[in-house]
Amino acid sequence: METHTSETLNQQRAPIASFAKPVSENRLLAALPAEERNRLAPFLDTVSLKFRQVLVEFDTRIEYVYFLDTAVTSTVVRTPNGETIEVGIMGAEGFVGLSLLYGIRHSNATVLVQIPGRALRMRADDFIKHVMQANGPARDQLLRYANYFNVMVQQHAACNVAHNVEERMCRWILLTHDRAGADMFALTHEYLSVMLGVRRATVTTIAHRLKERGLIAYTRGRLVVTNRKGIEACSCQCYRLIKEQMARTFTHSGDIFESA
Ligand SMILES: [Zn+2]
Repeated sequence: METHTSETLNQQRAPIASFAKPVSENRLLAALPAEERNRLAPFLDTVSLKFRQVLVEFDTRIEYVYFLDTAVTSTVVRTPNGETIEVGIMGAEGFVGLSLLYGIRHSNATVLVQIPGRALRMRADDFIKHVMQANGPARDQLLRYANYFNVMVQQHAACNVAHNVEERMCRWILLTHDRAGADMFALTHEYLSVMLGVRRATVTTIAHRLKERGLIAYTRGRLVVTNRKGIEACSCQCYRLIKEQMARTFTHSGDIFESA
């Protein structure tokens, strides 16, 4: 017969956030040795992230880092005249709070939630102590991710000046589709215009063109990918380059100490 000891009662009362082993699909955590994951688990809380929630703000002290699960974020840069442009995107492969990896407490970018969902959150103080100062596999893994993210930012920078808006929009849809976990995701023309740094009317014109060609559909605030191959054909090569770099990150291809 089941008995309720004080320990089991405490476990029953404990919120999800305090479970010893949070359930997560974050690839950075999943790639760690079980021992390292278990070591970090007590410092991770499961949180729900809302649309447009700002996780870290440019030049502001980082209080929490986030290992994304089902949520997708945009990393944006604000220009001096108030415009915003996206320079990176993160999903379940990602980690928000990259500046801490370089020993910098203030964020070098603004990261906001593009698709609401779950993440595992850790206090920045715990991260510094248990990841940075511990100098174990988690730190190595995150540095590898940071390298990938730098490549993505560089590619975005080149893309934003070298490729036309239609190519960039298709690149954006593909990167988001890969992370959304569904063919349909919330997206307004206004949001996309901010992410691409172009006028909303331009986004509307191009979205209409893609819809007429059967590549996407959209209803109020939602975009549906209806022809993935067609969108890939319309995108510039930046999408493929970013995806290849991510594959190298997670397969350890090109490492200095590559395993035989
Ligand atoms: Zn491009």
